[in-house]
Amino acid sequence: AGIAAEPEQVVKKYLENVEKPLEEDCIICMEPLNIASGYSDAVESKNIKPTAVGKLKKCAHTFHQLCMLAMYNNGNKDGSLQCPACKTIYGEKTGTQPKGNMEFSSIPQSLPGHQDCATIYIVYTIHPGTQGPGHPNPGKPYSARGFPRHCYLPDNEKGRLVLELLKLAWARRLIFTIGVSSTTGESDTVVWNEIHHKTEMNSNFSGHGYPDPNYLDNVIAELAAQGVTEDCLKM
Ligand code: NAD
Ligand code: ZN
Ligand code: ZN
Repeated sequence: AGIAAEPEQVVKKYLENVEKPLEEDCIICMEPLNIASGYSDAVESKNIKPTAVGKLKKCAHTFHQLCMLAMYNNGNKDGSLQCPACKTIYGEKTGTQPKGNMEFSSIPQSLPGHQDCATIYIVYTIHPGTQGPGHPNPGKPYSARGFPRHCYLPDNEKGRLVLELLKLAWARRLIFTIGVSSTTGESDTVVWNEIHHKTEMNSNFSGHGYPDPNYLDNVIAELAAQGVTEDCLKM
């Protein structure tokens, strides 16, 4: 992750000063932009005034600068910002996936719906451990159920692209997170993040199997929503 920049610097880097804000509300604190940030009492800043307003450089959504700082401080402080209105990512978003291992290989069988090619087989292994910064309960243990988890992609051009994107998402700690499992209700456990995987090869009891003609396009879109795109692979 490298050495994190100061939170104020990160906010300043991606926001342009707005001198005369329009008469609209800040969607972070719900207060009008022409009065002080609703987070003025909760967040201290030497360089950002409670009335300062900023516009995000790419998407042009506008917020109190102090509200942006509060939002950033509330996350994993990786030097990136995500617009709370439109989800545009500034910088490189990383997640809180605990340490583990990702392995992949090709197997000769084909998947339902992809009879013309072999299969990419991915195995994720994560062991239980202790939560760190950015997790729901730092210092408390987390469980890791159902590992190793086995996943499948068609071994064709688009499937191999998805594999490369998943490898990058793994490196950026975006595949899993720690939270409450919606399947089991257990808290403080390792759960899939917002990138869907196919965990059944020849059946579809869970709804996470094949055939699914839209799967590769859907997962490419989910990866893009986390800032992981084909362009990142060219850099
Ligand atoms: P979750 O239930 O909180 O769901 C998070 C996301 O994962 C959701 O988008 C959901 O649609 C997706 N998801 C749910 N079940 C999935 C599955 N079988 N394959 C692929 N994606 C799935 O997340 P979670 O608790 O990490 O995932 C639940 C799945 O993990 C279980 O169905 C099972 O495969 C595995 N698991 C196994 C055990 C075990 O003891 N063997 C325990 C917990 C979870
Ligand atoms: Zn605000
Ligand atoms: Zn935006």
